[in-house]
Amino acid sequence: MAEAAKGAAGACAAEGVTVIEGGWIVAFDGREHRIIENGTLAFQGDTILDVAKSYRGAVERRIDARGALVIPGLVNCHVHIGAHAGDRMILDAGRRDVFRSGFLNYCPAKGIGGKTIFSFENPRATIRYSLASLLRTGSTTVVEMGGDFSGDLSAIAEHAGELGIRLYTCPGFSTGAHHFDQAGRHHIHYDEKAGMAGLERACRFAEGMAGKHGGRVRPILVPFEYHLCSPDLLRRTKDAARRLGIGITMHCAESMPEFQDSVRQTGRTPVAFLDDLGFLGPEVILGHCIYLSGHSQTAYPYGGDLEILARTGAAIAHCPLVFGRRGVVLESFQRYLDAGVRMALGTDSYPQDLAGEMKFVSVLSKVVDRHMESAKARDVFNAATLGGAAALGRDDLGRLAPGAKADIVIVDFETLRAGPFLDPIKAFVHCMNGDAVDTVIVDGRILVENKRLLAWDERALLAEVRASTASAWANFSAYYPFNEKIDEAFPPAFRPWDGLA
Ligand SMILES: [Zn+2]
Repeated sequence: MAEAAKGAAGACAAEGVTVIEGGWIVAFDGREHRIIENGTLAFQGDTILDVAKSYRGAVERRIDARGALVIPGLVNCHVHIGAHAGDRMILDAGRRDVFRSGFLNYCPAKGIGGKTIFSFENPRATIRYSLASLLRTGSTTVVEMGGDFSGDLSAIAEHAGELGIRLYTCPGFSTGAHHFDQAGRHHIHYDEKAGMAGLERACRFAEGMAGKHGGRVRPILVPFEYHLCSPDLLRRTKDAARRLGIGITMHCAESMPEFQDSVRQTGRTPVAFLDDLGFLGPEVILGHCIYLSGHSQTAYPYGGDLEILARTGAAIAHCPLVFGRRGVVLESFQRYLDAGVRMALGTDSYPQDLAGEMKFVSVLSKVVDRHMESAKARDVFNAATLGGAAALGRDDLGRLAPGAKADIVIVDFETLRAGPFLDPIKAFVHCMNGDAVDTVIVDGRILVENKRLLAWDERALLAEVRASTASAWANFSAYYPFNEKIDEAFPPAFRPWDGLA
């Protein structure tokens, strides 16, 4: 596959037809994915022309995919592009008083408007590193959750445009902000005016994005969290999305403090409250949505949150690994599917590898349900492709079919990792990860080839993002409560062996 593809390295969409031939093609028949063994896929410009057993028209470029799986570009519906310094330290540790929530570990801890760990990062380094990791491992469309990157709002669209990946985002906004005080107590500081101003800023940003970067960079409104948004702000967000004809994404039901505050303050679960408000609908993607009525941690069996989600058509961006690392699990992927909830997947913070994330979707659902037939490979693969596309209202993504965008990923199965397999989709979900991705094509342009990014130097990116996070970790005690040092709050696995000759 690598040899034949070489001649096209870095080429823009050719005028002629490109044919990918010889692999297992995951083709869409108008209703569902099907497998064409030893098939062909033809595309021209940014559009797929044909998926079949052979292509009879004139061909300008051929890509040999023998021994490979050819899949639609993955649609990653929940990503924090700038979250490296915070997320990477929390394993096996963190604040016990935030009830297993990982992200509250690195909220500002010197009062209102205090510094976060992210303040010490180099925003452009984090953006470029994340986008590169996402694309390299097969995500061709990503939804970024509204990081403002130290106020450098154009940076993310600029870098995504330069790389060629599809991106949905806007600067995030909320009425409230989390912080800890000097004694380590959690507070939410509310500022209604700041929330409204944030929404207006996001709307201006959305209007300014129209037509940029070949239509690959698009807006979606991002009120940060249900926990932090006033009902009035959410109503106005819904109206603004309708006026602009765009979607909304928000974190919801992602932590126990959020669930408990909602029930205590409103008498409703987060999902039921949003339903009462008229906020939910098919244009809304809720990040995580773990703590629903009936979740075993909530001790709150009342109400029918799953039925509400199914009835309103809101989609869930499910990111099992980041929560699994904290001992938290959605109960369960299969239950949500069976209830008719629209499921999409995301990678949240790290690793940004949606191909590698899929096995956690399947395995954790089986464990939760105590049922080996829960979360079949087919359903997980659908969520990473058709499910994500549906959540974004796109019928031209997440599928290999005539008329769809030429967003294509070629996965190398000629590896020991793949081994022998009876079914390529089951093997992909359970054995493979993003390292097996050989070629990534977006809008008909080859962006990853021979397992390397073409646009940027991977070693330079790595050096840049490591320097950026090292600076954040060095400043850890400047923002954390009690001026604790990083190796006290988050101890290393083994003690350093100092003083050796
Ligand atoms: Zn998130």
